[in-house]
Parts: sequence; structure tokens; C-alpha cells
Amino acid sequence: MNLMTKPKSVLHAPEKFFIGGEWVNPHSDRMLDVISPVTEELMMRYPEGSTEDMDAAVAAARDAFDNGPWPRLSPRERAGYLRKVAENITERLDEIAEAWTLQVGAPIMLTKKLVPQNATLFNYYADLIDGNSYSFVDERRRADGGKVRVVKEPVGVCAAVTPWNAPMVLLSYKIAAGLAAGCTFVSKPSPETPLEAYILAECIEAAGLPKGVFNLVPAGREAGDYLIRHRGIDKVAFTGSTAAGKHIAAACAERLARVSLELGGKSAALLLDDADFRQALPSLMVYTMPITGQVCFSLTRILVPETRKQEFLDLFLGAVSNIKVGDPSDPAVHMGPLAMGRQLERVKAYIDAGIRGGATLACGGGRPAGLEKGFYVEPTVFTDVTPAMKIAQEEIFGPVVCVISYSDEEDAIRKANDSAYGLNGAIYSADPERAYRVARRIRSGGLTINGNIVDPTMPFGGVKESGQGREGGIEGLDNYIELKTIHFA
Ligand code: NAD
Repeated sequence: MNLMTKPKSVLHAPEKFFIGGEWVNPHSDRMLDVISPVTEELMMRYPEGSTEDMDAAVAAARDAFDNGPWPRLSPRERAGYLRKVAENITERLDEIAEAWTLQVGAPIMLTKKLVPQNATLFNYYADLIDGNSYSFVDERRRADGGKVRVVKEPVGVCAAVTPWNAPMVLLSYKIAAGLAAGCTFVSKPSPETPLEAYILAECIEAAGLPKGVFNLVPAGREAGDYLIRHRGIDKVAFTGSTAAGKHIAAACAERLARVSLELGGKSAALLLDDADFRQALPSLMVYTMPITGQVCFSLTRILVPETRKQEFLDLFLGAVSNIKVGDPSDPAVHMGPLAMGRQLERVKAYIDAGIRGGATLACGGGRPAGLEKGFYVEPTVFTDVTPAMKIAQEEIFGPVVCVISYSDEEDAIRKANDSAYGLNGAIYSADPERAYRVARRIRSGGLTINGNIVDPTMPFGGVKESGQGREGGIEGLDNYIELKTIHFA
């Protein structure tokens, strides 16, 4: 069944870029193809940004920052614009959900539920800078009693480089916080999923933000690399793979440009020996393989007590067998295809590595029956996985879950921490304070007791190779701030 193949979204000028408040023609005639993950056919074509387009976008953002009103508006004035952007986003939520489903293969039942987060982020940062809880000027006294103002100033012109798996919300985290701080932006979305960034550009244009505050140039790696090295860029806000994050951090280090990195994960769901597995099951079903496992904070390693392993597997494998895989535009479907052909090849290679490495394939591993076209793979569970195995260490970014058993609490904590990543995690227990004590010993940027919660009004981000800096919450605003200390002599 193929319910929708083309987005209904009507863009003003999908053949152009948004630079300096205008829709402008690209410098080159190179195009980007967007392929439907359901039909494997060409769905849309967009122009591909070149280095000349990046120069124009950076110049516009630079001018808006250095000479325009945006950084010098009062927080209340900026908040007014952010609220208008939120209103415009709210009017287009159906379109944004559909764009996500069509480009990425994320089930419409999920995307419809999640897209309001985009408006929430703009409203949240508007309220934060317009209220009493965030102060841009802190009056202090120095050691000799003299007057000091510690001022929070915007970091400058930012490049927002974002991935394809959740294109709009990962962009909104950056743009809402950065605009609230007074920054200006060049957005370079993933070449596979440019649609949401166009919708956001239109929402920003309709809100009447000053020219050049937000600029959009979709591009691939080459022009992206040029952008992150550009001397006109003060900060790179990056979400994507750890490999690209390391490359970008090194490039930024050469000129000490600011950088924040939201990278990969291999997060553990740790079921303590007193956990109620039936209560844990609903959140495990949602968060072990969300968007066909293509979410950075997925709980892809499940740690179970050896003594209760079979009890867990009976429950979990039973629930996994009920996952309805199919066309993500069907509101009854839980899991769509992987987003692109290269993702399918990657996931298949990891499934092979799991089998070759000695893990037991408990379910899945192949193409779902009856789905001959599309980048589909079955929900897959490996048991008898040991921490040293490749599938236990590397981010697969597909619907592949590793069940790892442990002997006691110390063994569980050691295994949960046996990872290069540290993004997310969940601890399940009948005793929330016991779970909290265990959570304090897991090296990750965030955890949930008895569930999995990511809230845009709270800081989110990783330790170790999962990244640097935080997005969301007050800390997400601080990501776009430089401190200036002004002494009165
Ligand atoms: P990717 O690293 O391949 O690409 C991400 C973005 O960076 C794309 O726009 C890409 O064009 C661009 N890019 C890549 N190399 C670049 C370079 N040298 N210079 C400039 N731009 C460059 O990642 P992906 O495959 O698009 O996304 C999947 C990855 O993103 C996964 O590892 C996932 O865990 C991670 N992710 C992390 C978070 C988080 O918040 N921590 C959220 C979502 C996704």
C-alpha cells in the first residue's frame, strides 16, 4: 500500500535559497535528489548549495549580526518575533509531520504526535528571555567593592548543520535558542531532507524577522565543509554522527570557533532485578527502535539480570512480533522503512556482524514478508550479546536491539558504562531511589527512571563521544552566549 508519495507541502520557492531575507537563485545548477524510502523512487529535487552560495549566506548573516538590529533588540522584542514563528509553525504542523514521514519513513502516528515540539521550543525560549528567570545582565561587586556587570552576549553568526533523522526538531532546538540569544544563522540541512528547513524559513519570513537573521542553503558535505571552516562563522552547532562531529570539532579548533556537538549514542536500558518487566515494556517498545531505530537516544542495549533473562525475552519478543511494519503514512503502522538505501546496507552489515560475532538472532534480521520495495528491515533482537561484540559497541542506527545479561548490580553498571558513547539511558526498578543511585553511576548526559523522557525545556546532550554542550532548557540558550565582564573603575 502506498498512501502518499509526494508531499502536499506548497513551498514558495523550492528552486531557490533563502539568503538576506530574499529567495535567491543558486549559483550552480547542481541538484539534490530526495528518494522516497517507501517506493525507492525520486520524490523531489532541490538545488544544491555551492561554496559561492555559502559565501552569500554567511555575508548576509554577518551583516545582520554586525550591522542589523537583531542582536541589539531587547529580549522582549526578540521574544515577540519568536512567538510569531511558533504561531506560523503551529499552522503548518500537519505539513511538517507529513514531510518527516515522507522523507525519513517515520510513522505518521509518531510524527503527528511529535511535531508540536517545534512550536514549543520557540515559545519556550521566548518566555525564557521575556521573563524573570534569565538575566542578560548580572550586576555584581568585585573584590575591592567596585561595580561590575557580567553581560551575556550572543556568540555571533552560527552555522546550524543538521542530520536527516528528525530534520525539523533538531533544527528548531538550535534556531529557537540561538535567535533568543541574538545570534544569526546559516542553516545547512541534510541533503536528503531539506523540506522542513524550507518550511521553517517560510515561517521565519512570515514572522517578519530582519533580513539576514536566518539563511538557508541545503548542501552536501563539500559545501558543508566549506561553511564550517568559513571565517565569517563564529560558532558551529552540529548534530550528526560522531565521525563527522570529530572532523568538525578539529576544523573549528584551527581558528578556535565555538562548537557544540550532538552526536551518536548506544544507550542502555538497565532493568534492575526488582523491576516490573510488564510496566517497563511500553516504554521499551517505543524507545528501543523509534523511527526504525534511527534516533540518537534509542535504548539499543537492554541489560537484564541473568536470573530473569528468559522471563524478559518471553515478554519482549512477544511484543516485538506485534510491531506492524509497513507504509509509514498508514496511521496503523508502527514502523516504516529505513530512511535510505545506504542505511539499509549499513544495518544489514551489522546484522551479519552480529551473527558472525556469535550473538543469537532471536527474531528478525531480514526483509519483512510482503514488502518487496522500500528500504525495509524487520525489527531485530539479538540475545547472548557480550559488551565486546561490535553490535554492542557501535551505533547501528537501525531497528536492532542487543540484550545483554548481567550477574549483579555492579556488573550491570560496569556493562552499561562499557561504551564509547554516553547520551541517554533508562533505569527500571520497583524502588525509584535505588534506580536514582544507579543512575548517578552511569556516565551519560541524561537518564530516566522507569521510562524514557526527553523534554525540550530540559538540557539534553552527551558525554564521552556523544558530544559536547547541551541543547534545550536554559543550558541550550547558554550554548549561544559569550560572557563579557564590564568593570566600572
Ligand atoms: P552525518 O554526520 O553524516 O551528517 C549530519 C550533517 O552533517 C548533514 O547535514 C551532513 O551533510 C553534514 N556533514 C557531514 N560531514 C560534514 C562536514 N565535514 N562538514 C560539514 N557538514 C558535514 O549524520 P547523519 O547520518 O545525517 O545522522 C545520523 C547521526 O546523527 C547518528 O549518528 C545520530 O546518532 C546522530 N544524531 C544525534 C543526535 C543528538 O542530539 N545527539 C540527534 C539526531 C541524530
